[in-house]
Amino acid sequence: MKTTLLTDITIDEICKGFVYNELEGKGLFGWSGKLVIQPEYQRNYLYAEAKMEEAVIRSVLAGYPIGLLYFNKVSDTQFEVLDGQQRITSLGRFMTGKFPLIDQTGLPHYFSAMPDDKVNLIKNTPLTIYICEGTESEIKAWFKTINIAGIPLNHQEISNSVYSGPFVTKAKEEFSNSSNANIQKWSAYIKGRVNRQDFLRVALEWVCRSTEDDDVDAYMSQHRYDTDITELKTYFTSVIDWVSGVFNDVESEMKGLEWGRLFEAYHTTPYDPAEVSAKVHDLYADAAVKNRKGVFEYILGGCSDTKLLDIRIFEESTKKAVYAQQTNAAVTADKSNCPLCALGHDANAKKIWKFTEMDADHVAAWSRGGSTDISNCQMLCKTHNRAKGNR
Ligand SMILES: [Zn+2]
Repeated sequence: MKTTLLTDITIDEICKGFVYNELEGKGLFGWSGKLVIQPEYQRNYLYAEAKMEEAVIRSVLAGYPIGLLYFNKVSDTQFEVLDGQQRITSLGRFMTGKFPLIDQTGLPHYFSAMPDDKVNLIKNTPLTIYICEGTESEIKAWFKTINIAGIPLNHQEISNSVYSGPFVTKAKEEFSNSSNANIQKWSAYIKGRVNRQDFLRVALEWVCRSTEDDDVDAYMSQHRYDTDITELKTYFTSVIDWVSGVFNDVESEMKGLEWGRLFEAYHTTPYDPAEVSAKVHDLYADAAVKNRKGVFEYILGGCSDTKLLDIRIFEESTKKAVYAQQTNAAVTADKSNCPLCALGHDANAKKIWKFTEMDADHVAAWSRGGSTDISNCQMLCKTHNRAKGNR
């Protein structure tokens, strides 16, 4: 694919022959008829935000760049906008009197009534345009990546394009806005980057979990033309408030946990944050806890599911030493080397199990304070160990 950089085309030239379709809310043509502003595969854009349109005009008036525009060259006299549709449409709509700039006192200023110096400034501002030439499949494949400077779109970014509309616009203002003061607090619990839509993704996943569908795309499709995001925002805030209320400590392992699932499962259970905090500290200090990420769910669930913590098991050398000692004693006593088998009256009461037929067990359960060293280790036959179940 071939690209050419143009830096001498002005706003005035691009907006010549601008046609706007009020019904569809789309800019259609520009550049004296040479430019198709919304080719079929371009994402749909709805003008939900007057502020965004005004921001484009204000940028031009302030002399700020409005960014690169990408056009696909179809022929010498025909181009399509690959990226920059909304900026061009904003410029065209302003220059054709579709919306005014509102000043600080609330007064509207239409393009036609602006002073000459400002009119000329807007008209004569050059745009930075990349003209791309290539096959349709090259262009389409490339389009997927250009909006974010060569990084492939992730799942949520593609969904945002597919379901673009007032809902996505509003949702991005809240969850994809790095100047939102809440982001820092949210970052304690959510992994990812604001500008890659990771927070929005999580917010959607959480609210979806509380619905029947549990499908982000279905939810976005269903709410596509909603003009408010109250449900999404309220649910998200509820989850965050719940986590930060139950767990006073912020630990790095909390980042990226399935808080939406845990909220659904446990938010109606009362907890004493001081007790919870003490428990977190205990578990963090316990060398037997291999999976600290599991600490929070373990506590929420009433400290019973030790699988969540991946408790450290006995060393191989410890197991062999205990096996040898138990087996020697068992042979002398003419009983099974599995202490639980030895208590029974069936055929296994005198059975000497092989090392490979036995597993190590905590005599005093770890969850009740038992240690993971040789003093608390016994070997049980696999059947008994499984039945005991609690390492
Ligand atoms: Zn046994």
